Amino acid sequence: MAEGRQTSLLSRGAPLADPSAQLARLAAVPLAEEFAAALARAGHFPLRPAPIEIFQINTGKLCNMTCRHCHVDAGPDRTAENMDRATMEGVLAALDRCPTAHTVDLTGGAPELNPHFRWLVEQCVTRGKHVMDRCNLTVLLLPRSADLPMFFAERGVELVCSLPHWRKPNTDAQRGDGTYDKSIEALRLLNRHGYGQGDPRRMLTLMHNPAGAFLPGKQAALEKEWKSGLERTHGVSFDRLIALNNMPISRFLEWLTESGNLDAYLGKLQGQFNASAVAGLMCRNTLSIGWDGRLYDCDFNQMLAIDADVERPHIRDFDPLALAARAIRVDRHCFGCTAGAGSSCGGATA
Ligand code: SF4
Ligand code: SF4
Repeated sequence: MAEGRQTSLLSRGAPLADPSAQLARLAAVPLAEEFAAALARAGHFPLRPAPIEIFQINTGKLCNMTCRHCHVDAGPDRTAENMDRATMEGVLAALDRCPTAHTVDLTGGAPELNPHFRWLVEQCVTRGKHVMDRCNLTVLLLPRSADLPMFFAERGVELVCSLPHWRKPNTDAQRGDGTYDKSIEALRLLNRHGYGQGDPRRMLTLMHNPAGAFLPGKQAALEKEWKSGLERTHGVSFDRLIALNNMPISRFLEWLTESGNLDAYLGKLQGQFNASAVAGLMCRNTLSIGWDGRLYDCDFNQMLAIDADVERPHIRDFDPLALAARAIRVDRHCFGCTAGAGSSCGGATA
C-alpha cells in the first residue's frame, strides 16, 4: 500500500473525494464488457430487488481510524456527516412500515461514535429486530465505549468486526501500526462478555479483506485457518469469518491508481464475473440509508452518490411499492460484488 496516505481524501482535497471523479476513473479503464452486459448475459438485467430484509443504516463517516482501503473515506476529520436523531426517527418510522425487514445493519464510519447510537440500537431491539453492528474493534477500547460490550451482550447485538488478517503485518499495513494489538485486546474483551463462543445471542463475526489487488481465498478454508491461528497465538475465538472483495472505489481506488494496479484489478474483477453470485447480491434484499436520510441500493452506491432509482430517494418519503418496482443502478464498480465467490455484506454469495 502507498505510504503517507493515512488521511481522508476529503481532508487532502484529493480529486477522488468527488464521487463523479471516481466513476470517471473507472470508466476510463479498458474493459471487455460492461457490468450491465454481463448481467444481461446471465439473464438478470435490469437487476430487480427482492423484498427488503435488511435496513442498512450508515450513521456517518466519522471514524477513529483512517484505513487505507476504506470505501467510505471515513476518518476522525469527518465530523460533519453524522446522522441526527430526527433522521433516525424517520428511519424507524419506515422500519415500522416494512414488515419484511427483520434485520438492522449499522455501519459507518464507526457507528458507535454517533451520539445517538445506543438510542438507535435500543429502538431497533425493542421492535424485535436483529441488530448487527459493524465494528472496527479498536473503537471498543476508547473510554467512551467502556459499557459497550455489556450493552451489546444484554441486547443480543451481533458484532461484525473488521480484521483484515489474523496475522499482525497484514492488518497493520492496512489499518496503521498498533491496530492489530488493539484489535486482539478488543476481541479478548468480547470473549470475556460471552461473544465468539457459539451463543446465537452473542455472535462474533470477523470480516477479512485482502491487503492488495487480489481476491480473497475460499471463505470456508480461511475461516478454518483463522480460527486455529487466533486460538493458537492469542487464545481468542470467534464464530464465523466472512471474506470480502476490495471494492475499486474511494481510498482503495486511489491506491490502485497510484500503484499502477487499477486496469489489471478491474480487468480481473470483470474477467471473474460469476453469474451464480447475482442472486445473493446485497442490493437485492437490503435498503441502504445514508447519514442524511438519502436512499441507495447499497453502501457502495451510497459512497458514489448513486441514489436509488425512485422519484424521492429519501427515508421521509419511504415508499415500499416504488422501491420494489425500481431497477437497481449498476456500474463498473459492481464487478467487485460478482467476482470469484461473490462479495456482499454477508461475505461470499456463491
Ligand atoms: S475502520 Fe472502517 S470505516 Fe473506519 S476508516 Fe477503517 S475501513 Fe473506514
Ligand atoms: S455495488 Fe451495490 S448495486 Fe452494485 S452489485 Fe454490488 S451491491 Fe449491487
